[in-house]
Amino acid sequence: MPDPDTPVIKTRFAPSPSGHLHVGGARTALLSWAYAKGRGGRFILRIEDTDQKRSSRTAMEGMLRDLRWLGIDWDEGPEFEDCGGGDNGPYFQSERLDIYQQYLDQLIVEGKAYYAFETAEELDAKRADARQRGEPYRYDRAALDLSLEAVNQYRAEGRPAVIRLLVESGEITIHDEIVNDAIIPAGELDDFIICKADGYPTYHFAVVVDDQLMGVTHVLRAQEHFKNTAKHMLLQDALGFRRPTYGHLSVIINPDNSKMSKRDKDKALRAAARENGMTESPTALIPQDAFAAWLKNKDQQLELNQAVVLADVLGIELPEIDVDDFRRSGYLPEVLCNFLALNGWSPGQDIEKFDNAFLIERFDLNRVNKAPAKFDRAKLLSFNLDALSEMPEDDFVQRVLAHAREFHPEFAEQFTDEQLDLIARCNKARSKTLNDPISESTFLLTADEAIEYQDSKPIRKAMHKGDGHRHLAAVRGLLEALDPFTAESIEDVLTQYAQQHTDGKLGVVAQPLRIAVTGTTVSPPIYDTLALLGRQRVLARIDRCMSLRVGLPDEPIRSTEP
Ligand code: GLU
Repeated sequence: MPDPDTPVIKTRFAPSPSGHLHVGGARTALLSWAYAKGRGGRFILRIEDTDQKRSSRTAMEGMLRDLRWLGIDWDEGPEFEDCGGGDNGPYFQSERLDIYQQYLDQLIVEGKAYYAFETAEELDAKRADARQRGEPYRYDRAALDLSLEAVNQYRAEGRPAVIRLLVESGEITIHDEIVNDAIIPAGELDDFIICKADGYPTYHFAVVVDDQLMGVTHVLRAQEHFKNTAKHMLLQDALGFRRPTYGHLSVIINPDNSKMSKRDKDKALRAAARENGMTESPTALIPQDAFAAWLKNKDQQLELNQAVVLADVLGIELPEIDVDDFRRSGYLPEVLCNFLALNGWSPGQDIEKFDNAFLIERFDLNRVNKAPAKFDRAKLLSFNLDALSEMPEDDFVQRVLAHAREFHPEFAEQFTDEQLDLIARCNKARSKTLNDPISESTFLLTADEAIEYQDSKPIRKAMHKGDGHRHLAAVRGLLEALDPFTAESIEDVLTQYAQQHTDGKLGVVAQPLRIAVTGTTVSPPIYDTLALLGRQRVLARIDRCMSLRVGLPDEPIRSTEP
């Protein structure tokens, strides 16, 4: 029987829907979810959309989809697929304005908060004064000198007003379950704004009211909010609310110690544009003046669709930053969750690979790391490779097909279901991501006469020293006559040929074939590769490779036949 005096553990994830779900946010959501689930608790998803200018419905829906993709579900929150609902809604802050108003009114009536009417210019002047005196700026409480009549009159006139909290002096100790406790000295915090002039509560106010009314017992969030906690504590005291337990998660950093941020995409693009001497916008999607301004200003960000097109023109891969980036790149959600949890937490005993069920069972705040977590992409990729190679083949095929249809429909459309199945299957052993079978198969779609043959040592070795052209000529005839033309029949005929002519060494004949049909020395197993291309295209490519004398010296050589 649950003890009625012990509140149910409740955690929440409270994203502001102003962009894509960043991996840092995803980690916060994952750990908050795991914490609640592992303790018979509930996990809430709350959308913090009071900044109307920056919030968008598309961003919000993208976040819900990304969370579901990661396997994170919520007991309370926006209704989406099989999640959401709950008795403590609405779960969009923009729909809770009347609730905030009640508590703002309460603070005003109790004299714990007050209206202030300074304009932005007046406040700027006060800030400039403080700077000149070499003092940190604190609001000077000038509004407290206004009489009640004056306040009422200004409000009746419709003068824009903010509401400020009357901050009690005294030091504040922030107690945190992850990082060390911190003392904010008396006088450090001024009477901060809790309601903006447009009538919307500030983030601090809304978060405190919601955490109370939604019964949140544990707040896990990014370390950048650590100092905000002092403000939240002051508000909780003023409103007579209980205090949740806090845990602040370290930042996620790049291997070069820079903060992993959504600006990294722009950083990579800017560097590539400079390297290429690009000064004009290469796409109508980015107007020229916007392009020039973006190139100069490292704080400016392109829209994602602009960034994608520019990356394509520059021939670079955008670094993955958001959950959606990793999804598109073909990472498995279970691997991303495992990896994100490891970014800042470890179960100990050298355990590195685990699933969400294990995380739920084992996650605890005392093994969360205080230090910044380094995002090791190579490790993530190797986790993904391992998971793909351990996956049963049929599951792998299903996932590759779903991935291809969602993210590369123009590729998937070119093939029958059977061909797609074979493309996935024959790439399983080599794939690091679900994208690999697709990116490794572009040679299938290249026109026969457009296959490019490079002049490389392995190619010369296979074609010249290994007598590749002679083998090509010989197997060409066998392939032409082969019926049916399937991976199995091709395997039979090539193995037989190798037994009769190359001491059973299949590579001696497979490699020239591979070069002839793909232009390179790496491809999926040769039988599958040829079967996928079909007889006509295989023959056309062999003929072209032979007539171009690929891998042979310029001078005609004599046959090495005795
Ligand atoms: N909306 C805030 C954010 O996205 C939430 C901070 C919090 O968890 O209190 O950073």
